Amino acid sequence: MMPGHLSKSVDKAECKVCGKPIAGNTPSYYITGFGTVCMPCSSKHVKCDGCGSDVRLMTITVLRGRKLCLLCYKNERERGEKRIVKEVIASNLDVLIEEILANMPEGFKFVGVRLKPSSKNTWQVEYEREDIFEMRCS
Ligand SMILES: [Zn+2]
Ligand SMILES: [Zn+2]
Repeated sequence: MMPGHLSKSVDKAECKVCGKPIAGNTPSYYITGFGTVCMPCSSKHVKCDGCGSDVRLMTITVLRGRKLCLLCYKNERERGEKRIVKEVIASNLDVLIEEILANMPEGFKFVGVRLKPSSKNTWQVEYEREDIFEMRCS
């Protein structure tokens, strides 16, 4: 168990799960977006709203009302941008494709590439956020 979210300075807090008061000197967990929970409740299992996996309450983060495991939270956070353009230097198409495939940003889909204006080997590779991409294509 990692004491990453351990907090001891919360006064008169109540456990968000069982409602029991947490005394100032009792170790408790603060869950971002959710609140303070007591130690026994922090190790209860919950379902991640992102991937559906069974995770311990202490490892989740609540984002816009969704309980997310560490991985899903990381993905959500990185999804702030809708589109990204990366510049790739490649002398030919084979190298370019290799570069594109090797550097796919997580949660994004490759949507297009064009030669940078006034350049012979610099390409502008465009990626679109996965959820946006799927919405547009379905
Ligand atoms: Zn509790
Ligand atoms: Zn998840």
